[in-house]
This record gives sequence, structure tokens and C-alpha cells, in this order.
Amino acid sequence: MTLSEPLAGTVAHLAQVRANLARACADAGRDPASVKLVAVSKTFGPESILPAIEAGQRLFGENRVQESKAKWPALRERFPDIELHLIGPLQTNKLREALELFDVIHTVDRPSLAAALAKELARDPARRPPRLLVQVNTGEEPQKAGVVPQEADAFIATCREEHKLVIEGLMCIPPADEPAAPHFALLAKIARRNGLDVLSMGMSGDYETAIALGATFVRVGSAIFGGR
Ligand SMILES: *Cc1c(COP(=O)(O)O)cnc(C)c1O
Repeated sequence: MTLSEPLAGTVAHLAQVRANLARACADAGRDPASVKLVAVSKTFGPESILPAIEAGQRLFGENRVQESKAKWPALRERFPDIELHLIGPLQTNKLREALELFDVIHTVDRPSLAAALAKELARDPARRPPRLLVQVNTGEEPQKAGVVPQEADAFIATCREEHKLVIEGLMCIPPADEPAAPHFALLAKIARRNGLDVLSMGMSGDYETAIALGATFVRVGSAIFGGR
């Protein structure tokens, strides 16, 4: 059986992105194993995702809890080593479901969510907690989630000290109409001064720039799965 055109495209695109990642790491003098590719599969169904899984991709990103709940449990049953990343905003009323689904949450972005996370995790001490990243609104865009840069240090401290959450790193989505590099550099700087080494930054249009500036997770959607 041959794959239909768009699905064959997915496999070829994935290979191209991986090759670009390897080259960007080499150019930056970085170990390729230090950068993880999160394939952003939002809006795409299992028939589009399967070829990527079969090509060896294991980290996937989704931005909605409901959509993920419909798509991923069946796929994860078949491929238990898949790691699912939440990269979209998390409402506290979806928290319990999110904790059932996601291994990594990139969008811890406000004190009320940190408090709710701590409370929910305390309910079930046997549960393996998700890995947590704080989202920083580096462009200070009013419509965008994330803590603003001047409040990031205090927010990280609150998560750690008050809520006993293990924060592993930071995530940002730079403004669409600005060069991304200064935003990536700012995120890296905030991470450094808070002792964090995980940086989730870089999407289809700018993941090579992000790697040059220290990204450890790049979140790539359309360059792999096509336009949404
Ligand atoms: C959709 C999305 C991506 C992927 O964007 P592409 O430009 O398709 O690569 C990355 N990060 C977040 C937070 C997203 O919502």
C-alpha cells in the first residue's frame, strides 16, 4: 500500500525538519540530543498523525484538552511511549482531564493555575506529576497568555516556594509581527537567572533561530503536517 499524497508528505516533511534541526545544532555547536522536536498535531486527525508516529516521532503537542481527549487515548494505547505536551492555555476546570492526558504542560501562566495544580496533585500523591514549564509573554501582548517578563522571577518563586511545584523551564510565543530572536534571547536570560535549563521556543518559521539561542524543545506544526 502506498500512502496518499499528503500523508507521504508528512513523512518527508518530518525528515526535512529533523535534518534542519541537526544542521542548526551543528551550526550552533550543540549536541543534537539536547533539542527535542515536539510535533504539533493540533487540528490533525489520527490518520495524519499515524505516519509521523510510524516514522519514529514520539513527542506531540496539542493546544486543546477536549480535542486531545478525543484523539490521543487510542493512539497512546497502541504506542505507549508517546509523550504528550500541552502547549495551549489551561483552564482550571479542565485541569483534572489535562493531568490524565499530558506528560508535559508548557503553559503554567498564572498564580490561580499554579495553586489549582498544587491542590490537584496533592489529591493523588501516587500520581506522577507532569513536567511543568512557565509561559512568559515576552512581547507583553494583552491578548496573549503568560506572565510578563518583569513578573516572571516572582511567579517562578511562588510556584516553587508556595506551591512546591517543580518548574523545569520556560516557554514563549513571540509576537507574530516581530523578529523572534530578541524574544528567544530574553526567555533564555530569564531562565538562566532562575536556574532553569529547559527552553520551549521556536515554531515552523523560526526553530533554527531558537536552537541558536538555546531552545531545548521546538514546537513544529505546519512544517510537518501542512497548513491548518
Ligand atoms: C500551533 C502552535 C505551534 C506550532 O506552530 P507552527 O507555526 O504550525 O509550527 C507552536 N506553539 C504553539 C503554542 C502553538 O499553538
